Amino acid sequence: MNREKDYEVVIGLEVHAELATSSKIFCSCSTEFGGLPNTHCCPGCIGMPGTLPVLNKNVVEFAIRAGLATNCEISGFTKMDRKNYFYPDLPRAYQISQYDIPICKDGFIEIEINGVKKKIRIARIHIEEDAGKLVHDQWSTGSLVDYNRSGVPLIEIVTYPDMNSAEEARLFLEGLKAILQYTGVSDCKMQEGSLRADVNISVKPKSQEELGVRTEMKNLNSFRAIIRAIEAESRRQIEELESGGKIYRETRRWDDEKGVSFSMRSKEEAQDYRYFPESDIPPVIIDSEWVEEIRKSLPELPETRKRRYMEEYGLPAYDAEIITSSKALSDFFEETVKNGANAKTASNWIMGELLRLLKEKGVEDDSIPFPPVHLAKLIDIIEKGIITGTIAKKVFDNMFDSGKDPVAIVDEQGLKVVADTGTLLPVVKKVIENNPGSVADYKAGKTKALGFLMGQAMRETKGKADPKLINQLFIEELEKL
Ligand code: ADP
Ligand code: MG
Ligand code: ZN
Repeated sequence: MNREKDYEVVIGLEVHAELATSSKIFCSCSTEFGGLPNTHCCPGCIGMPGTLPVLNKNVVEFAIRAGLATNCEISGFTKMDRKNYFYPDLPRAYQISQYDIPICKDGFIEIEINGVKKKIRIARIHIEEDAGKLVHDQWSTGSLVDYNRSGVPLIEIVTYPDMNSAEEARLFLEGLKAILQYTGVSDCKMQEGSLRADVNISVKPKSQEELGVRTEMKNLNSFRAIIRAIEAESRRQIEELESGGKIYRETRRWDDEKGVSFSMRSKEEAQDYRYFPESDIPPVIIDSEWVEEIRKSLPELPETRKRRYMEEYGLPAYDAEIITSSKALSDFFEETVKNGANAKTASNWIMGELLRLLKEKGVEDDSIPFPPVHLAKLIDIIEKGIITGTIAKKVFDNMFDSGKDPVAIVDEQGLKVVADTGTLLPVVKKVIENNPGSVADYKAGKTKALGFLMGQAMRETKGKADPKLINQLFIEELEKL
């Protein structure tokens, strides 16, 4: 054996998502991101002795929501546990988490890879508190700690090792992210650390039944980093095995800039954490009526929405998939359609110009700088023939930058279509005069030449000429020759 193709890559993910509750998990401090260091804190979340934690009921509810939306079983009885370890960002020197009885277990998310559906099983979802943040960079004399994040509620979603490529891991994470956003469980802003993943990877010869030894890379916080880390680490493991080496169970640090991982420490085992029940928080009984109530209150999930877009709006699967992969984008699309736009036309604008500009300008899709009704209006004035397609793109760009109403942009800049013969005929004549070669081609039966001539006339009129009229004028004038 000597090729990457003789090996199977095996991936299991542990995903942390910060919950969108307004207060922390064990106190009433704000969970808002940012803020001056140590201003979202109280004696409780900075671990002062004598303070007592009180479990935030919303955290339990959000975890149940996440569990139901990912096909999990919800435990009727659950409890919190202490996970002991020392680190300066963890002021009590233990994290309140869940050990043997997580709130949710045995779920799955379905992904579709090359047209084939595959279930990625979820082993468990448990709740826990986030730690604070160490700030090293600006200070040469030492590190400082910001406890604003300490006590922000998290869910940890642990999958079975069911993924076999970076692409499958990406699809799983995208599916999960969409579900958490749709259910309002988390905003999943990766750039703010609201969603981060620990990636466990092993490789094994395809013919081998049992799994290989795995390594773990912690706290990857962008899709790009996750994909690159998986690709590099699986390659490293295969090369190691191929050259007669061994894989050690260890935690590795992924350096996304360099594109390599480094060994950090040998992997700790559960017993190293000396887990024991959290004695300051009583166990939680979750009655099935509450679970059913939450189930009923679940919003439409991405998969259902995707099918509805295909059935109700006749969107192709490809469009429906892309648009519903983001709740923000999907809500924007629906509002545009509600404001009278044709669904496929709206989808084309969103998947084309809108996604392009968002990417180009680095704007998140939940911060689209103009309202959906503006897109609906733009589509309306194109359909009514008030502006041409060429001009529409310019108006769209302007709308994106200025947030102005498209009708106002068209008025201010005089962008309306020019559809009177009096203005267009001289232009047509001039283009014919200046392009004898194309005219000859046209006369010789090369109809493509007409397209070129029309393009020239469009340029003369800065894209404002009515294409139908100009086409007709060209044909008439060329006939005369
Ligand atoms: P631990 O308790 O040591 O963290 P878990 O059983 O909870 O171990 O697994 C942690 C993660 O590692 C899970 O996402 C799981 O799917 C994944 N995993 C377990 N074994 C392997 C393996 N051999 N290769 C890749 N991933 C694995
Ligand atoms: Mg683990
Ligand atoms: Zn607090």
